[in-house]
Amino acid sequence: MPAPARPDDCIFCKIIEGDLPADIVHADEITVAFRDLNPQAPTHVLVVPRSHYANAAELARHEPTSVAALVSAGSAVAAAEGLDDGYRLVFNTGAGAGQTVFHAHLHVLGGRSLQGHMA
Ligand code: 5GP
Ligand code: ZN
Repeated sequence: MPAPARPDDCIFCKIIEGDLPADIVHADEITVAFRDLNPQAPTHVLVVPRSHYANAAELARHEPTSVAALVSAGSAVAAAEGLDDGYRLVFNTGAGAGQTVFHAHLHVLGGRSLQGHMA
């Protein structure tokens, strides 16, 4: 099944296409990873699929192997960033959970103790 067309107003599609600048730390056939503009931890990277889907659940429904690719890319980023003590992987899904960009993305957070923090 072909990936859906890119909406004109999606900032992550623009970053993937190179139309909007970003500090890209990893790219492969399925994913692109770049630093969050407003970091919530010393390391805060977003890993996005090249295909546009509104959230991780939609991505899982249409391209399940891409979800594994996001997690693999996230772990490669964590290793490259030296997050040997651990890191957090987060998919905010839906506005009520704080999702603000409706192109599926995996947050990779680390660099200080995150123990006990759920948000
Ligand atoms: P959400 O809240 O949807 O889970 O996460 C969206 C994230 O995208 C936020 O952490 C926000 O700081 C980040 N973000 C929003 N716009 C941009 C942008 O233009 N460039 C980058 N690198 N990050 C962005
Ligand atoms: Zn998009």
